Amino acid sequence: MSHMLSRKMSDIHSFARPEEVVVRHLRLDLDVDFERKRLTGSATLDFETSAGARELVLDTHGLDVERVTYADGSAATFAIGDSQPHLGSPLTIGLHPDTKSVTVHYASAPDAAAVQWLSPEQTAGGKHPFLFTQSQAILARTWVPIQDSPGVRITYDATIRVPKELMAVMSAENATELSADGVYHFRMPQAVPAYLLALAVGDLEFRSLGRNSGVWAEKPMIEASAYELADTQKMIDAAEAIYGPYRWGQYDVLVLPPSFPFGGMENPRLTFATPTILAGDRSLVNLVAHELAHSWSGNLVTNATWNDFWLNEGFTVYFERRIMEAISGRDYSEMLALLGRQDLEATVAELPPRDTHLFLDLTGRDPDEAATKLPYEKGYFLLRLIEESVSRAKWDAFLREYFDRHAFQSMTTDAFLEELTAAFPELERRIDVHLWVHGPGIPDNAPIVHSDAFTKVEEQVRAFDSGTPAAQLAAQKWSTHEWIHFLRHLPRDLSREQLAELDAAFQFTASGNSEILHEWLLQAIEHHYDPAYDALERFLLRQGRRKFLKPLYQKLAESSEGFERARRIYAKARPMYHAVSYRTIDQILKW
Ligand SMILES: [Zn+2]
Repeated sequence: MSHMLSRKMSDIHSFARPEEVVVRHLRLDLDVDFERKRLTGSATLDFETSAGARELVLDTHGLDVERVTYADGSAATFAIGDSQPHLGSPLTIGLHPDTKSVTVHYASAPDAAAVQWLSPEQTAGGKHPFLFTQSQAILARTWVPIQDSPGVRITYDATIRVPKELMAVMSAENATELSADGVYHFRMPQAVPAYLLALAVGDLEFRSLGRNSGVWAEKPMIEASAYELADTQKMIDAAEAIYGPYRWGQYDVLVLPPSFPFGGMENPRLTFATPTILAGDRSLVNLVAHELAHSWSGNLVTNATWNDFWLNEGFTVYFERRIMEAISGRDYSEMLALLGRQDLEATVAELPPRDTHLFLDLTGRDPDEAATKLPYEKGYFLLRLIEESVSRAKWDAFLREYFDRHAFQSMTTDAFLEELTAAFPELERRIDVHLWVHGPGIPDNAPIVHSDAFTKVEEQVRAFDSGTPAAQLAAQKWSTHEWIHFLRHLPRDLSREQLAELDAAFQFTASGNSEILHEWLLQAIEHHYDPAYDALERFLLRQGRRKFLKPLYQKLAESSEGFERARRIYAKARPMYHAVSYRTIDQILKW
């Protein structure tokens, strides 16, 4: 037991009162009904109570609760409170002194925000429907009645019934073969917070990638997915060499249909990933390193509340780049770090100063709004600064022990800082950690990232600017990251003729690399380069990753003509986006 557990970790985004009654195990039993777009069945919750506790309070959002029963089948009293913005409604269940378990019989709503129901046309195969969930940050409560706080961990098992031609997978131990009757049983023996509950159902195939790794995808995508993710086992081995054993058994990646709103989601044992990482040349697989790194930072040691989000993401970006350094070399990881620095500067310029602290105050807000690059990249630079101050050897030893000591526990920012100070008493005076965590912007002592590769790219930008034809630029061996850096640093006053010349030389408008295409389309919108507009519309219609959608729609919305174009495209695209994405775009386009 750690002293951290006794510390009260109040979570402003949950109605649960785990200090009175804490759920330890969940048994899900759900029918997946594609016709009515509902998950129907029951959730049985086993819990521990403190003396005198007479109520279990769960988070729900839009659930249709039919009844609640005790273990003997008798009816329990329950009440559903008023709905609050972002949070949903508390479900309060009356307990007898000896009650240890209750079962909630319920159905999710057809518009449950976590769940996306795809029609066959929205899949790669085109024949079968598809379902996936996205529970982070506080959307698990839209499909499971649960204490939906990252400070509460549960083990779970589940029985899921699906149409028998489809496969069901969860963030748990998965079968790799289709079941004859469409019934799947899952077991998750390691305790996880509710935001890591995940389910996907579709016409899926599995391919092993190594000793304890594999990939899932729709059949038409499995070949390309297995090729792209071939280095996954190498990444696991590299990660274990840095921070100790991978504790979750199997590590698989599920490549989802294109509407998945994120790059990846670190669901334990089964990362959910966007197909936009399939570049054909393995150049975007640092995303897998990131999600894998969450198997330590985030899934093993978890931010106690969403205000502590940087403990999940800053640590994970740091670890991701360490894995990439081990696999692809320091030059490669420094390119990633420098792109990260650019993202951080752009993010700081956009956000109000209060939202550029590492420790956030999300009172009254949807924690999904905290999912800017700030906690990721500012967190990364703080951890790198610590590494450079205390030496990599000492920092790695500290982190390895930290992951061991707090495995399967939650962590607050304060508790982390206390441990840091205890291990490195001189650190505060030397680098002012407090300013990084509780102050705005990018502190002056942020580590300087240097990339020779990017310096060479900048030389080529200058050459182009002073008249060297695009076709003669020394760009033959550039990686995706060098292209991104090039596109981001093009002169601001580019003419349409120059854009046409670049396009003719490098085929940007026709690029199959989502990251390069995204940067190019931003330039195209900025400079009204209309030969790229069809490609822009296709890109917005064929994938739903918020990281790409948000900047493109924002850029379009800067001019009145662009705003109208954006709304015309959005009218067609919105039905295929996940709620996480369309909620963001609705605001940009005043939908
Ligand atoms: Zn992450």
